[in-house]
Amino acid sequence: MEEKGIPQEQIYQMLRKYKEKDLTHRSGRILGSMCTCPHPVGIKAYSMFLESNLGDPGLFPGTKAMEDEVITILGGLLGKSDVHGHIITGGTEANLMAMRAARNTKGLKDPEIIVPRSAHFSFKKAADLLCLDLKMAELDGSYRMDLSSVEELISENTVAIVGVAGTTELGKIDPIQELSKLCVEKDIYLHVDAAFGGYSIPFLKEAGYNLPRFDFSLPGVSSITIDPHKMGLAPIPTGGILFRDRKYLEAMAIETPYLTEDLQSTIVGTRTGAATAATWALLKHLGREGYREVATSCMEITYKLAEGVKNAGFDLVTEPELNIVPFTSSEIPVDEIARRLEHRGWAVSLASYPRAIRIIVMPHLKEEHINAFLDDLRAIN
Ligand SMILES: *Cc1c(COP(=O)(O)O)cnc(C)c1O
Repeated sequence: MEEKGIPQEQIYQMLRKYKEKDLTHRSGRILGSMCTCPHPVGIKAYSMFLESNLGDPGLFPGTKAMEDEVITILGGLLGKSDVHGHIITGGTEANLMAMRAARNTKGLKDPEIIVPRSAHFSFKKAADLLCLDLKMAELDGSYRMDLSSVEELISENTVAIVGVAGTTELGKIDPIQELSKLCVEKDIYLHVDAAFGGYSIPFLKEAGYNLPRFDFSLPGVSSITIDPHKMGLAPIPTGGILFRDRKYLEAMAIETPYLTEDLQSTIVGTRTGAATAATWALLKHLGREGYREVATSCMEITYKLAEGVKNAGFDLVTEPELNIVPFTSSEIPVDEIARRLEHRGWAVSLASYPRAIRIIVMPHLKEEHINAFLDDLRAIN
């Protein structure tokens, strides 16, 4: 560290140098991320609440009121307005909280959780941190959680089953309705990870898409992860966790001796209120109509991309259910496709199961970007 400070103009100049090295979503070159350009209204709201700390909510009752309202609105979107939860850092923290709530309410000596093989890696972190035995259920022919595999894995130590509504790699929706039935029958906690799909499935259904039920309208669903910083267009870090019942938050409440609240259920202590403000502002500003438009536009571009990928001579791993297009080639190995695309300036990502190029059609990807990408895809084949 230097003894003397550097004048601010020079600091900004230095910052711009670093920023130039970063990719931007706006360029349309990022094809493999679930994040996107944050909406300007979300950015403005976020920057208005930079000093707000929801870890000490008595000092920020205005922000706390917004958080309560956001949780009610998101619950309403997901089938139940009177839910309990928090706006946190993202899907990882949300999944960690859900697994902690499930473990603590059950109170078994050797707790196990069952997740689909397609589950996000955050469940491996949760299992490690919470000392849970992680059981992986197989997928069926359309890459959804296989129910008979789940039934085989259930034991007297099972504290939670996880279904995913919009898998990270392929955008698939697990059979949540059937999982709900099973979990009611066996009295097992069911968590739905809708980090990616939570902000799009409800709006696509409103627009007439034929997608399965996945939310609190199913009686077995105990909690849902929904990420405003993915399809919700909020700035990073903004995640959401919703619980059907307050008892799940209480099961992980820790006493906080010197703060304005007595108990805290979140993992982080000091917690930005800016994420809540951004989520609140965007829900109000975009409304159902705005979010329906975001979700359906992404799907229309997804179908165009899928068609173009097939026409370029590549094979879709599966028809898109949400806005992800995974593909392979019978002639070129996946890593080689990725290398050639990266050489042409495209930031793609790879799915691990099955191995495939995976393109996530987030709102920053416009038709012109997809057309330019398809030109390059034809050229490398
Ligand atoms: C992105 C994602 C996560 C993790 O969310 P982060 O915000 O990156 O922590 C968890 N589950 C699913 C299904 C996801 O797509």
